[in-house]
Amino acid sequence: MRAPLPPGSTIGILGGGQLGRMSALAAAGLGYRCHVFAPEADSPAMQVAAARTVAPYEDAAALAAFAAAVDVVTFEFENVPAATLDALAPLVPCRPGVEALRIGQDRILEKRFFERSGLPVGPWREVATREALDAAVAELGLPAVLKTTRLGYDGRGQAVLRGPADLDAAWARLAPRPLILEAFIPFEREVSAIAARGADGAVVTFDATENRHSRHILDLSIAPAPVPGAVAAAARGHVAQLAGQLGLVGLLALEMFLLPDGSLLANEMAPRPHNSGHWTIDACLFGQFALHVRAVAGLPLPQPQRHHDAVMKNLVGPEAFAAWADLAAMPDVALHLYGKGEAREGRKLGHATRLLPLGSVATAGDAGLLSPV
Ligand code: AMP
Repeated sequence: MRAPLPPGSTIGILGGGQLGRMSALAAAGLGYRCHVFAPEADSPAMQVAAARTVAPYEDAAALAAFAAAVDVVTFEFENVPAATLDALAPLVPCRPGVEALRIGQDRILEKRFFERSGLPVGPWREVATREALDAAVAELGLPAVLKTTRLGYDGRGQAVLRGPADLDAAWARLAPRPLILEAFIPFEREVSAIAARGADGAVVTFDATENRHSRHILDLSIAPAPVPGAVAAAARGHVAQLAGQLGLVGLLALEMFLLPDGSLLANEMAPRPHNSGHWTIDACLFGQFALHVRAVAGLPLPQPQRHHDAVMKNLVGPEAFAAWADLAAMPDVALHLYGKGEAREGRKLGHATRLLPLGSVATAGDAGLLSPV
């Protein structure tokens, strides 16, 4: 697929969540139609799609019909089985391709990819047996973090080991799935950066973002990250380098730990729009979803310019969601709700981004930043 997709073309999206919803909304702004394929009916993306397929990702007949109905396929959910993209790839262009998906789904492949790319990562060990866990703890020391290699998100599938007494319970909870042990990183801040790579190979990046978590779920993103310029540039450089190395067409998000000495360790990547990039919708002329759609559709990628500083707050669970009417009344807050039926505890139901004048983050200090949203 060389020429840009003309308006009126159909973008197929695998996955029905909020990332697909916001991608579909951005696509609509460029005159594209979106066809969402997901196992769940009435999911956030389905509600705003022009066409829908409700079927399991393994349904070969449904995938073939989907491929015939769309001009290009992308995904919003990184746990789409790689076999699904393998089935689609001979029939329709898939952006990004299966390689980025496969690596992003597996912490071991991901860490090896970071290491091959020359990106620093924290100490880690593969843990296949209970004895291997003891050996890894002996080598890396405690505290440490035991994680499943696959299907972990928002802190699910991981356990912090603070002392030897924690090992049995963590093993009982997480095994027999494949696991890794990571040394606990005493980071100063968590930082992420997002790159978009176009079909022509051009790469652009958004400002680095600081992320703060609450109970393992992203709570706040602060943009630009209040870090020295060299750190922000390194964060952007790392993700741009990885995007180039993968040769992907689409978005790549990279989460990093900032150490007290100013160096960055790569933690995790995702070849899709990312929660830590939601602020870009409102604070940049072209946000992450717009660039995702542009990349997938083969359009040129403008370098995103941030016209405001921003603080994004996730609305997680019923209590945070209850503030929606107050947030909707604030003139400098952009409220985004995801149309999720059930306001379960721990579920991301929406987000709110407060726009601040350029330069506010650098001068405000933490207290001034965190109170607004
Ligand atoms: P992850 O699923 O790998 O993104 O981990 C979720 C969150 O857990 C991270 O954003 C960190 O706040 C924390 N975390 C994960 N791995 C480590 C580690 N090795 N050391 C310290 N904190 C970690």
